[in-house]
Amino acid sequence: ARARQAIVDHARLVPDFPQPGIAFKDLTPVLADPVGLAAVVTALTHGCTDVDLVAGIDARGFLLGGAVARELGVGVLAVRKGGKLPPPVHSVTYSLEYGTATLEIPASAVDVASRRILLVDDVLATGGTAVAAAELLGRAGGVVVGVAVIMELDGLDGRATIARGLGAHLPVHA
Ligand code: IMP
Repeated sequence: ARARQAIVDHARLVPDFPQPGIAFKDLTPVLADPVGLAAVVTALTHGCTDVDLVAGIDARGFLLGGAVARELGVGVLAVRKGGKLPPPVHSVTYSLEYGTATLEIPASAVDVASRRILLVDDVLATGGTAVAAAELLGRAGGVVVGVAVIMELDGLDGRATIARGLGAHLPVHA
């Protein structure tokens, strides 16, 4: 309830961004508010047991992921956009509505093998990013055991896409 109120109080709706007809949900003011940040981080950790690594998705997922990891007492890994990390990297390219995007994680600097990973981001839209990130972590031997976001957008079937791509058993917490 505190997180919901923080979103009502601080989230911004930006019309026609990044493209005409799209209403962008901007949660950065929620994170900039001390009560808002605490509320959403606590909410993201809800019901989260048996996780030993948090993976935060570029870029607001980095902010959330670090805080969530600290709350859970585990470490955090940044899932980065392509081209930012030094080699060697694991890399996955997936399609967006227009064009493609690439996500990367270190291939040797961090041992992801057999880690039980909570994937964290601000917004779940189509689910394509979450599925791609989970595939990437899986390539490194990790197991995504849950997806936690602040906000899930209606009508884009993100939850169904995750169920199809990663299994219907995977908890998705929004
Ligand atoms: P998806 O791959 O379509 O689920 O898109 C999710 C990714 O795009 C996440 O990394 C989000 O941060 C970002 N995203 C999509 N829509 C929005 C929005 O309305 N507000 C903020 N981020 C968004």
